[in-house]
Amino acid sequence: MLHLTLMEELAKIKQELERTKTELGILYEISNAMRTTLKLDEILYIILTGVTAHIGLGFNRALLFLTNEKEGLIEGKMGIGPGSGEEANRIWSQIEDERMDLDDLISVYKFSSNQPNSPNSSFNKQVQRIKVSLHDKNENLLTLVAQEGMPLHLTKETMENYRHSPIVQSLKSEELVLIPLKAKDKINGIIVADNFITREPISKDDLHMLTMLANQAGLAIENSQLYEKTVMLAQMDSLTELWNHGYFQFLLQTETEKTKAGKTPLSLIMLDIDHFKIYNDTLGHQAGDKILSELASLLKDQSRKMDFVCRYGGEEFAVILPQTDKQEAFLIAERLRMDIEKHAFTQEDIFPTKKLTVSLGISSFPEDGLLPAELISASDKALYQAKSKGRNNTCC
Ligand code: GH3
Ligand code: MG
Ligand code: MG
Repeated sequence: MLHLTLMEELAKIKQELERTKTELGILYEISNAMRTTLKLDEILYIILTGVTAHIGLGFNRALLFLTNEKEGLIEGKMGIGPGSGEEANRIWSQIEDERMDLDDLISVYKFSSNQPNSPNSSFNKQVQRIKVSLHDKNENLLTLVAQEGMPLHLTKETMENYRHSPIVQSLKSEELVLIPLKAKDKINGIIVADNFITREPISKDDLHMLTMLANQAGLAIENSQLYEKTVMLAQMDSLTELWNHGYFQFLLQTETEKTKAGKTPLSLIMLDIDHFKIYNDTLGHQAGDKILSELASLLKDQSRKMDFVCRYGGEEFAVILPQTDKQEAFLIAERLRMDIEKHAFTQEDIFPTKKLTVSLGISSFPEDGLLPAELISASDKALYQAKSKGRNNTCC
């Protein structure tokens, strides 16, 4: 009798050891995968794939939220999991059939968006629409978890208290876990997971594993955000916060290549402040710098979302206009010129005409050149013409 109990005990311990081994294996695989990339969307995808079924911790659905301190928001970034029961079966069986492991799923994510578990699913879009305050925790679960920094496990009964919370309304789960992601002492995100399809209860072990994964995930997210910020800063002009000269060259190269492939037009505006030397000589370079950043904001505000506004150098700016022919570019350039003329810049009465004005030169692909250097040179020539016509002018 005693012998049998001992055997049973041993079998139980062995089973637990096996489970721990599998779970540690999963954690190891996920943390390795997180080291393969610094791109934020790929990191998020790896984390969520790690949390969800088959190759990960086994949850049916997982959602990732990031805190946005600047705007005081918690924003839905990515969701993996089926939206409905039918869709669920289709997706999971496809993953099973194709025997996809973590590496497979990551490469699928990198190269295609039309695949099972794709973050482009309707569920993902639903998650991206969720935005809640980072500070006002009134019945809001996400804010509560972000502020307290503690995991939260909700069952059918406790969920009732939060039925007005956007996340509860959106997910309609019977049981839910919310785990904060931490980097150093700061909460930088939240993972939410449930078993919407299988309705399998969430165990203490599941919660423990998820917390371990979350600790790694928080750090990986922070690293990736720092990396993306560094890349951004390296491409930006610090005075005007426009794209800098190096990145302008890169953008023009890539945009002309896209233009060639898609047989669409492209235009380039070069813009130079009229008589800027006088302003600097009279008021000093710091006052001149202020004008440059004022003009940069105006250019950014007045251009289209698809355009790239860059500081070419000194008091010269370049605007790349994708899918825009010369005729349309001319209208855009003239509108910019007039907006600038109308704008009241600081102490602009220093200028000979009492107004800050600019001259603009336009070139277009393909008629003025097929290469970036040819387009820059053609825009430069047109700009020179605008200057010789008396400034505050646009030429092409
Ligand atoms: P034009 O109408 O022919 O363009 O006359 P301009 O005086 O603007 O032209 P010029 O090229 O002779 O002078 C450009 C001036 O721009 C020289 C310099 O004082 C000023 N400048 C260039 N880069 C900067 C900058 O980063 N900061 C400041 N404050 N001034 C700059
Ligand atoms: Mg100049
Ligand atoms: Mg000038």
